[in-house]
This record gives sequence, C-alpha cells and structure tokens, in this order.
Amino acid sequence: MKCDYDIIINGAGATGLSAALALSQAGFKTALIDAIDFKHEGQSTSDPRASTLAATSLNMMRRLGLNNALAPHLQVIKDMMIGEGRPGQISPLTLHFDTSERDVPMGAIIENSRLLEVLRDAVEQADNLSLYLGRPLSDFSTTSAFAKVILETGTELTAPLIIAADGRNSFLRKAAGIAVAARDYDQAAVVTTVSHTRPHGGVAQQLFFSGGPFALLPLIGNRTSLVWSDRKAAVKAAMALDDTAFLSELERRFGDHLGALTLDGPRLSYPLSLQMAESYTSERLALIGDAAHVVHPIAGQGLNMGLRDVAALTDVLSSARATGLDIGGAELATYEQWRAGDNRLLGIATDQLNHLFSNQVTPLRHLRRLGLAAVDKTSFAQKFFMSEAAGELGDLPPLLRA
Ligand SMILES: Cc1cc2nc3c(=O)[nH]c(=O)nc-3n(C[C@H](O)[C@H](O)[C@H](O)COP(=O)(O)OP(=O)(O)OC[C@H]3O[C@@H](n4cnc5c(N)ncnc54)[C@H](O)[C@@H]3O)c2cc1C
Repeated sequence: MKCDYDIIINGAGATGLSAALALSQAGFKTALIDAIDFKHEGQSTSDPRASTLAATSLNMMRRLGLNNALAPHLQVIKDMMIGEGRPGQISPLTLHFDTSERDVPMGAIIENSRLLEVLRDAVEQADNLSLYLGRPLSDFSTTSAFAKVILETGTELTAPLIIAADGRNSFLRKAAGIAVAARDYDQAAVVTTVSHTRPHGGVAQQLFFSGGPFALLPLIGNRTSLVWSDRKAAVKAAMALDDTAFLSELERRFGDHLGALTLDGPRLSYPLSLQMAESYTSERLALIGDAAHVVHPIAGQGLNMGLRDVAALTDVLSSARATGLDIGGAELATYEQWRAGDNRLLGIATDQLNHLFSNQVTPLRHLRRLGLAAVDKTSFAQKFFMSEAAGELGDLPPLLRA
C-alpha cells in the first residue's frame, strides 16, 4: 500500500518543529500536526519561559539553517555562578564556571516565544513538509505495514512511521499503551521576565534556597528570565502577591547586583515532575521530547534532551532508508538504545541534584558545600561539567556536531 507520507509527527512544540525541519531536509516526505493553528491564530505564544540551548543544540539550529534568524535573540552565556542563596546575598561558597577558555560558548539563552516564532516561520517555508494545524489527533492504529492517524476533523493520514512529539501528556504514548514512571515533586516554578538597570554581563546564576533553585537566565538587553522553583504552597503564595510585593521578594532574594527591577512579562507557574516513558518505541511509533521524558528544570536540559532525540532519530532513519530498510521497523530499536539510557541518566541526575539542593538537612548542606568547593577548585571537574552542560559528552549524531 502507498502511504500518504514517509513520516507523520504529532506535536509542533520546539521538539516537533525541529524534527519536522530535520526530517524534511533529510528528504522524508513529512506531515506535522498540532492542535493549535499558529498560522492563522497569529504567532504569539503565552509561554513566558526562556530556554538554555546547549552548544550542541546551537550546532543543530545552525545545521537546520536557522542561525541568522535566531542570532538576534540569543544571549550567549559568558559565565555561570552556582551557589547557596541567602536572602539579599550570595554565599561565599559559590561555584564559578568561567567560559572564557572555551573555543565555543557553553550555550545561549533564548525566550521560548522567539524560538517558536523562528521554528514556525521555517516550517511554513519548508519543502517536503505539510502542516495540519488546529486539528487535534483523535485516533491512532497500526498494521504490520503502516500506521494510520485520524484527526478530529475526520481526515485520515497514513505513514510507515508516526513520531509522538505531543508533550508530557502525549496522546500517542497513551494510545500505544506505553506506561511512564513518574514522580511528582512537591514543587512548582514561577516563571517571569524582569528588566533591570544594571547589565547582567551574560552571567547565568543558579541560587539554592531551601524550597528549590532560583535561576536567573540573562536575556538580550538588560533583561533576565527568572525560574523560581519552590514548594507548591510557596509558589501559590508568590503567585498571589501583587507586582510590588513580588518584586520586593525578588530583591530580597537576589540582592541589588542588577540594580532596580521592573516586571517585563506575565507571571506563570508550572508544576514540576520527573516522568520517564518505559519504552521509546512501539509498532511504527517513536517518542521524542517531553512525550518520552520530563525532567526538573534545575539543569536547563529538558528541551536539549528532546533536540538530541531528534538528531539521533534523524540519523537512524536516514541510515535505514540508505540501506533500503523499513523506517518504521526494527531499526527503531537503535534509536531507543541510543537515547533512552542517556535520558534516564540525566533524569536521575536532575532528581538527585534537586534533592541535594532543595534541602536544609545538615549533612546534605555540608555535602553540597564540599561538592561546590571541590568542583570550584578542580579544573578537570570544571571542564567536565561545562562539557556536560554543553551537551558535548557521549556519542553525538551529525546534526549536533560543530
Ligand atoms: C519552568 C521550566 C523551565 C524550563 N527551562 C528549560 C531550559 O532552560 N532548557 C531546556 O532545555 N528545557 C527547559 N525546560 C523544558 C522544556 O521547556 C521542555 O522540555 C520542552 O518545552 C518540551 O517541548 P516538546 O516540544 O517536547 O513538548 P511541548 O512544548 O509540550 O509541545 C507539545 C505540542 O504537542 C501539541 N499537542 C499535544 N497533544 C496533541 C494532540 N492530541 N493533537 C495534536 N497536537 C497535540 C501541543 O499543542 C504542543 O504544541 C523547562 C521546563 C519548565 C517547566
């Protein structure tokens, strides 16, 4: 039977959009579906978050031809400070990653609204790619030869392979009966953007308070994206504050090193959890991005993990096609082997970091101070952690290479 497409992707978040670009550019006839019609409902997104794109994710964006469009929105990370937070001051035991000795930046920060805008523009112009927007997926079935999806409008589409990029509550993952191992943290994160009178100098900061990490991510201009993770009750209270009281609480937490602060965007809160799919594939289906794994934002790695899935899957599918193999067949196991172990390790690492740093138990406090001091004083450890954050360790597929 002749299928409508080579590959159908459900979900046009940053992961699905990147997959659609990578696979259509690799020559696969691709369809991209999303419940939201960004083409006709306008480009604006309500997502106030910013993402840290690791060096390898930046390589991928370059290889997808997005360098010029992204460049005006990328704030390069020039330095990273990690330390224990104390109201109004940063602890003397602060770990400092000076990136000046690296040939390429460790990463850059971009507002999600900008990233999505650039990716959406690119998919609208891409060859080999059809968009089905504003139409949620309502059914998924497979035979040994092909898979079929049905949109709520009744449209039926077939392909040898379906990719689930439909986020943490993935419809496709549930339809395929793939279970998840999940841990709900008693934490949520308040996210907003602040403007300030003093420059941030490209310094990203992660301060640890008893309820969770408080991240300051520098943006283009005198602006910073804030990710304040805390116990759910504290986040609820922070969301209930008026703007003046909220700003005073921010000033109390990170002092006056950025000068006077003003709010520069909406405040939204996100529940935090760890969620790992028990399998990344089933018959004619592959999971990528948050559909496969959700991690604590403590290390800013969630989207980077999804982009690594995209790069690995594109490589596996291109090799399968080059050797005449069925792209929705046994080769999917290679993708699972490549990505699932890495993602699970990172999931465990973020879980442990969150436990270690969102805690006032005395032995753990000593342990993290010792750890910060040891890494701060050892250049090998510094280089290792910088390479890990830049996504440079492990077996890199071509799309992630410089
Ligand atoms: C507070 C916070 C801060 C973060 N900071 C960082 C960071 O600094 N760096 C980083 O790398 N990561 C970060 N992350 C993680 C990152 O935001 C996510 O990993 C990433 O957004 C996941 O993208 P995705 O495309 O896989 O899923 P999503 O963005 O959830 O996209 C899913 C898409 O699928 C569509 N969809 C869903 N169901 C259907 C259906 N049935 N039919 C059709 N369409 C459907 C949705 O409309 C949506 O467009 C952070 C997360 C949080 C919560």
